[in-house]
Amino acid sequence: MTTQERLTYLNGSFVPESRALLSFRDAGFVYGDSVFDTARTFNGKIFKLKEHVDRLFESLDYIRLDIGMDRQEVFDATEELVARNRHLLGPDEDYWVSQRVSRGANAIDGEPPIQDGPTVVIECTPLPLRARATMFRDGIDAVIAPLKRIPPEALSPNAKTNNYLNSKLAQMEVTAIRPGAWALQLDIRGYIAEGIGCNAFFVKDGTVYTPRTDYVLPGISRAVVLDLCRDHNIPAVEMDISYQFAANAQEAFFTSTSLCLCPLRSLNGRNYLGMAGPVAKRLLGLYSDLAGLDIAGQYLAHLRAGAG
Ligand code: PMP
Repeated sequence: MTTQERLTYLNGSFVPESRALLSFRDAGFVYGDSVFDTARTFNGKIFKLKEHVDRLFESLDYIRLDIGMDRQEVFDATEELVARNRHLLGPDEDYWVSQRVSRGANAIDGEPPIQDGPTVVIECTPLPLRARATMFRDGIDAVIAPLKRIPPEALSPNAKTNNYLNSKLAQMEVTAIRPGAWALQLDIRGYIAEGIGCNAFFVKDGTVYTPRTDYVLPGISRAVVLDLCRDHNIPAVEMDISYQFAANAQEAFFTSTSLCLCPLRSLNGRNYLGMAGPVAKRLLGLYSDLAGLDIAGQYLAHLRAGAG
């Protein structure tokens, strides 16, 4: 360990990241029997932490797991972790801040328990600002993945379970078809579902459209954008969106904790207005005001620093 090492919260203690080690018998590793949530900081301060902790507890409720901590305790431990790691952020940097919870280490019949209760990890990861900087210069190229999103009849997309293999494989398929593109998945019925790790929005004739939440994660950033639309009289509609409707929109954008709001340049090679889209530009400005930080500017600063 060096004094520069980030700390991680592991089952009640703050330990250096390299010592936050889990058993290979952990149910998250063995069965994907785990949930998580991820917030981000702006200028080192966590954005919408209460909403993220609430969603974590909804996910825990969905998998019927009691972690023996209440919402306030998780909230406080998360704040404390960021406070302890904040000095390690570089200029123009921020953290992803995740709580990761599993049902704990699987017991072996006839042997003493390996661990008491669930595994609770809270961790800070520097945001991938360099890797994604060009997206805020050019917009994102999205491609529809052949692999459909897991249907709610099989596993609720409203809970943030650790079952991301479906998204991961969808992204691998798209990367093989078009390197550098971001996968957009359809739901089992063939309507637009989600981008990988993000919600999708389309703008047609001044109205903003996004899929309803039956088939997708109710993203915190999605809610931020819908609230901004409501507060600033931008018409917004939640509905089933066909590929045809999406492809004929003038603008499109993704929302997620890390991206906040990032315009799409294209879908399956058909162009949108990208960074020049007036509605996306306005909403990104309003989102930045709320965050107290120029979101695109933060990404672009890393582009100028030689990233790409
Ligand atoms: N959909 C999925 C599947 C996700 O993993 C995420 C990222 N958590 C989102 C949407 C966006 O949600 P949020 O805005 O809360 O980050």
